Amino acid sequence: MRIDLHTHSSASDGTETPADLLRSAAAAGLDVVALTDHDTTAGWQVAASARPPGLTVVPGMEMSCRWFPADSPPISVHLLAYLFDPTHPGFAAERARLRDERLARGERIVRALAADGHPVSWERIVEQSDGGVVGRPHIARALVDAGVVESVDHAFTTLLHHHSPYYVAKVDTDVREGIALVRAAGGVPVFAHGLATKRGRVVGDAAVAAMAEAGLLGIEVDHPDHAPDERLHLRGLAADLGLIVTGSSDYHGTNKTTVIGACTTDPHQFEAILAAGTGSAPFRD
Ligand code: AMP
Ligand code: ZN
Ligand code: FE
Ligand code: FE
Repeated sequence: MRIDLHTHSSASDGTETPADLLRSAAAAGLDVVALTDHDTTAGWQVAASARPPGLTVVPGMEMSCRWFPADSPPISVHLLAYLFDPTHPGFAAERARLRDERLARGERIVRALAADGHPVSWERIVEQSDGGVVGRPHIARALVDAGVVESVDHAFTTLLHHHSPYYVAKVDTDVREGIALVRAAGGVPVFAHGLATKRGRVVGDAAVAAMAEAGLLGIEVDHPDHAPDERLHLRGLAADLGLIVTGSSDYHGTNKTTVIGACTTDPHQFEAILAAGTGSAPFRD
């Protein structure tokens, strides 16, 4: 069994449509794939209807959250959510707020870039996102197309880096509220890429313990952005806190160099997610 529980389609900032992403998953020999677009469930219906036979599709999402340390600015944390009820009103409202927040923040970044002479247009970026939830990868792509940078990765290490003067933070959900919303909707919250330091500051063990106290059920341990020692540390933390351990690729199509299935989840851990998720069912034969 090969199980990848973290992928992005064009419903957010991946480059493949949900249907193409499922085809890629099947072609890569995966048995189970979760669709976890940023702050949206828009890909779920297509994924359900375009599912290749034999492939199990787990409906999911990656929620933009923040942890508030006592004595420093908020730290961005991503919360994977599986098998929740997409119609839960409180959770649906918060997702809509996060999408509005992404639009407002994306527009501020792009207008500032344009004001300094970089040939990018917010209107064109929104048009090219084709209804997908806009993220920095869309802006990066526009910068590549305009010849300002040579690659999406180059955009992230320069103009779109979190230390760039053009960077604007989003007002993301307090992660403890996010965890509560996912649980209220019958879902399974899993802390995504918790030690991926290249994305910015990361939280300490005490924060993860507090998240577990708030209802967190799992930690993503195997992720392309985690070094071996970081995986070891997170595996120990998960054991100490009694949390499910996952491994996933965080596939984004050609917006990243990572291949689908680059990291995978143990079948027993997947069973624990299936047992805990009560808000919706996987799409399967
Ligand atoms: P945002 O959510 O708008 O802040 O943008 C962050 C997204 O960009 C995340 O989904 C990351 O996976 C993605 N990302 C971060 N760094 C890179 C990179 N170097 N190349 C491509 N995508 C990246
Ligand atoms: Zn992304
Ligand atoms: Fe993420
Ligand atoms: Fe992701």
